[in-house]
Amino acid sequence: MKEPLKVDGAVTIVGASLAGLRCAESLRHEGFHGSITLVGDEIHAPYDRPPLSKQILTGAWPTEKAFLTDDLKLEELGVTARLGVRAESLDVDAHRVTLYDGSVLDADAVVIATGASLRHLPGTESMTGVFGLRTLDDATALRGAFDDLEPESRVVLIGAGFIGQEVATAALGRGHKVTILESLEVPLSLIVGEPVAELLMNLSANSGAELRTSVRVTGIDGPRDGAKAGWVNVEGADPVPADLIVVGIGVVPATGWLESSGLTIENGVVTDEHLFAAPGIVAAGDVARFRWLGAGHDEQVRIEHWQMAVDHGVHAAKALLGGPHNSPVFDAVPYFWSDQWGKKIQLLGHPSAEDTVEVIEIPDGEGRFVALFHEGSFLTAALGVSRPRRLMAFRALLARGATIDDALALGV
Ligand SMILES: Cc1cc2nc3c(=O)[nH]c(=O)nc-3n(C[C@H](O)[C@H](O)[C@H](O)COP(=O)(O)OP(=O)(O)OC[C@H]3O[C@@H](n4cnc5c(N)ncnc54)[C@H](O)[C@@H]3O)c2cc1C
Repeated sequence: MKEPLKVDGAVTIVGASLAGLRCAESLRHEGFHGSITLVGDEIHAPYDRPPLSKQILTGAWPTEKAFLTDDLKLEELGVTARLGVRAESLDVDAHRVTLYDGSVLDADAVVIATGASLRHLPGTESMTGVFGLRTLDDATALRGAFDDLEPESRVVLIGAGFIGQEVATAALGRGHKVTILESLEVPLSLIVGEPVAELLMNLSANSGAELRTSVRVTGIDGPRDGAKAGWVNVEGADPVPADLIVVGIGVVPATGWLESSGLTIENGVVTDEHLFAAPGIVAAGDVARFRWLGAGHDEQVRIEHWQMAVDHGVHAAKALLGGPHNSPVFDAVPYFWSDQWGKKIQLLGHPSAEDTVEVIEIPDGEGRFVALFHEGSFLTAALGVSRPRRLMAFRALLARGATIDDALALGV
């Protein structure tokens, strides 16, 4: 389909989560009144993932509060939901999606919104007491396991990424002893560079959690000698006993079902600047490795942020209805947040670990600061710790490709 999608056509959206749902809503908003089929391999209606490592895990929210929609709202939206069934393959030329149950969905356009799935530590996938956190079912299982633990149990986190640190915060809040094992010398340094990552590392310094860096985990042995979940083996040091283990070592884009499609898959579904992966086929959200022309950049990126999945979903609908020649380029400024150690970390833009950074600390002893990243004079990103309103002021600057001097003049 090189032409725009007709408003009475048919669309198959694969991936019934944030990007997929926002795309369906946006199609309707743009006047599309044809058929929309939303395919998801989870049995649940689309739900939100950020609360899974925050309010759901701490017990502050019941799980129902995480849902983005329900059966009735999907029906009102005119969406046929095929939940609990995996898409197995895509015929790009025919816009045909074949499902695990053998059924075949033909459409005028296909939206690929299959997100990402957990990276596993080999050999530990089915061990009792070892958890990951990506889905609502993961969160329910982990919360139940927290509930079952005695106070002051030993919770070991493997990986100190953003989500790992959120889980650590929740475990600590539940009165457990928390140890975080991280392979890098400074957690998050590959994303924000060492100077800023060191400041972020300080946020957990007085929390009571033990952060052990430059630690290479080699495997997990089963329970013995009172360690209910098992022993985490680390290179060159004694194994670490654990009553519960959470593995948080990142995700991989969910592209397995596209292997035979002929689409370009390189750390995600590669798209152009409109999100097209092929005629009539767009990719959105965590799975998309898109050409990003925002904030003065021209690079192929895959960004695992909630706001990016929303912006992509909305844009994908417009791209399909506008067609490859008339739709706008995707140029939104990425935005990410994380709540950990009682602080809100927010990141606007797309920093590189090689960028130069100006850090402006707020002298109140609370660890609050704003970091402005730049490449030469060109502003690339702004990161704030508990400076929500000031930080958002940088969004407009990033969108117009401003300089570091413009950003410093704005103040923090
Ligand atoms: C615990 C957690 C906390 C987070 N916290 C934050 C935060 O604080 N801030 C932030 O900015 N971002 C956060 N994120 C990231 C954010 O939630 C994601 O960027 C967002 O969910 C991406 O949405 P998506 O629709 O692209 O993909 P996903 O939400 O991954 O959804 C993809 C869906 O497709 C399904 N699927 C996969 N393969 C198939 C197939 N073959 N057939 C059918 N269905 C399939 C998947 O099961 C899934 O339901 C968090 C993520 C997690 C897991």
